[in-house]
Amino acid sequence: MHRFFVAPAVFAQPVITLTGDQAHQVRRVLRMRPGERAILLDGRGRACEASLMAADAEGARFQVLRRWEAEGEPTTRITLYQAVLKGERFEWVLQKGTEVGVAAFVPLICERSIVDDPAALAAKRGRWERIIQEAAEQSGRGCLPILHPPRSFAQAISGTLAAPGSQAEDRHSGDHEVRLIFWEGEREARLRDVLSACNLAQSRHIQVFVGPEGGFSTAEIALARSHGIRPASLGPRILRAETAGVVAAALILYAANDI
Ligand code: SAH
Repeated sequence: MHRFFVAPAVFAQPVITLTGDQAHQVRRVLRMRPGERAILLDGRGRACEASLMAADAEGARFQVLRRWEAEGEPTTRITLYQAVLKGERFEWVLQKGTEVGVAAFVPLICERSIVDDPAALAAKRGRWERIIQEAAEQSGRGCLPILHPPRSFAQAISGTLAAPGSQAEDRHSGDHEVRLIFWEGEREARLRDVLSACNLAQSRHIQVFVGPEGGFSTAEIALARSHGIRPASLGPRILRAETAGVVAAALILYAANDI
């Protein structure tokens, strides 16, 4: 059955109307007929099965049949602080990270970032949100990963963010019990050892920092350390920045029994 995320206020209605791209997809791409069913999700962990009543120029109207708590969410909430990357590479991270189970993304502007114009990044937000939404629909996520606004490395290290999955919007980032920065210069702390040293069963929130094409500077690594963020290695091979975030997320979820 096809899956669509809708806004929570829309989800709460007995008849749910899809508009815009989603209505186009129902009518023109999937060519759904009245009586056919879809799964609608509120992006916050609720799902319903709904039957198409009518699809016309005004939108696609669905009658809700039954509602339940959505599945498809890892219990470990990973926030991926990923340095913004050139071309389509950052989009690839958003798409694959969503498939793997990342809970939230923070685009990071680092010392060696090639892409660092805030206005250019802001202009990409709509496109990035669509990529996350489509990947979440396709992969069967129960919640829509959060896309935070871009932040500088220093802001991200010391700043506050709502913990994904938490009720409060202004919880301090200290709620993340595990904060890791992936650094190819790290020789001692292998991810396996770092993860077995922290109690993953109790650390529901994990922050993961991944650098840009040129890597983190030594000053950035030192700053991270001074904030209690542990450097970790992904092994002796150097991964491209867009590979590292996705691999790290998959390995952490695996170690946490979420994969
Ligand atoms: N500057 C490096 C490559 C950076 S790789 C060079 O050119 O040699 C881009 C990012 O991926 C890094 O900042 C790091 O966060 C992550 N990364 C890649 N390979 C890694 C590894 N083996 N261990 C830890 N992190 C790695």
